[in-house]
Amino acid sequence: MCGVIGDPVAHSLSPIIHNAAFAALGLDWVYVAFPVPSAEGRLVVDAMRALHIVGLSVTMPHKQAIAEFADQASDDVMALGAGNTLRWVDGLVRAETTDGPGCVSALREAGADPTGKRVMVLGAGGTGRAVVQALSRSEAKEVVVVNRTRDRAEAAVALGLGRARIGVVEEANDCDIIINATSVGMTGNAESREPLIDPNGIGPGQVVNDLIYHPLVTPLMSMAAERGAHVVGGLGMLLHQAALQFSYWTGETAPIKAMRNAIETELERRSARGTSS
Ligand code: NAP
Repeated sequence: MCGVIGDPVAHSLSPIIHNAAFAALGLDWVYVAFPVPSAEGRLVVDAMRALHIVGLSVTMPHKQAIAEFADQASDDVMALGAGNTLRWVDGLVRAETTDGPGCVSALREAGADPTGKRVMVLGAGGTGRAVVQALSRSEAKEVVVVNRTRDRAEAAVALGLGRARIGVVEEANDCDIIINATSVGMTGNAESREPLIDPNGIGPGQVVNDLIYHPLVTPLMSMAAERGAHVVGGLGMLLHQAALQFSYWTGETAPIKAMRNAIETELERRSARGTSS
C-alpha cells in the first residue's frame, strides 16, 4: 500500500496516477488518499510501520514538517526545508523531494531542456525553491529569481549553486524559459488573476511553463500562446514528480504513458461533471 497524506486531499489526482501505474505494470499494489490534519502528521511514520505502508506522497499542510517526523531526511529536504515523499531506506522512513527533478524532467519531455539556458523563475515559495535548485543542478546558464517577497527570493538564490540571482520581471525578454512557480493564476486565488509578466516580455523562441494545473490553461499560458511562445502546462511536472516517487517505492521505471492517459481521462471526466478540481 502507498498513499498521499494531506488536508484537504479528497480531490488529489495522485491516486489516479499511481493506481494507473501499478495496473500498467501488473503490480498488486494500491494507492489511497488519507486525509491527515496538520496536528496528526507526526503519527504518520508509526502508521507506516504498523500498516507496512511502502511509501507516501506528502502534500499541504505537511510538506514543511516532514523532515521533523521522518526518521531521516535527504540533503535536499534539509536544504529546502520541505519535501513531498516518504519512503523506506534500510528500515528507516526517509523524507525526499521529487518536485524539482519532476519540473526539469517535464521541461525536457516538452523539448525545453534547461541546460545552458537562461531561466526566469517567478515565485520563491516551496516549489519555486525546489525548482531553482533543480535548474541549477541541471546546469542552466543562469536562473533569474523574481519574487514579491525579497527574503524568500534570497533563500531561493542561496540554493542556486552560484547560478542564480535575484532579478525583475522586465528581464523576461532576455530569458529562454520562464517558469511560473507562484500561485497567481490558480483557480481559487482571487488575489490576482493577471499574469505577473507583461505580454511584451514574451515572444516566439521562448518557453513559458506554468506549474499550475488547475486550471489546465492559465491566463499566463493563454497570453504566452497568443504571443507565439512554446507553452508548457503544469501536468507534466505533476506526472514526473509522481514518476520519481513510483520508482523510489517500487524500484521500477514508471509507465509514464499510462499515468498520463489516466490523468487526462480523469480530468475529462471531472470537467464533464463540472468538478475540475
Ligand atoms: P507557496 O509556498 O505558498 O508559494 C507561493 C508563491 O506565490 C510565493 O512565491 C508567493 O510570493 C507567490 N505569490 C502568491 N500570491 C502572489 C501575488 N498575488 N503576487 C505575487 N506573488 C504571489 O506555494 P508553492 O507550494 O510554492 O506552490 C506554488 C505553485 O506551484 C502553486 O500554484 C502550485 O499549484 C504549483 N505547484 C505545482 C506542482 C505541479 O506538480 N505541477 C507541484 C507543486 C506546486 P511571496 O513569497 O511574496 O508570498
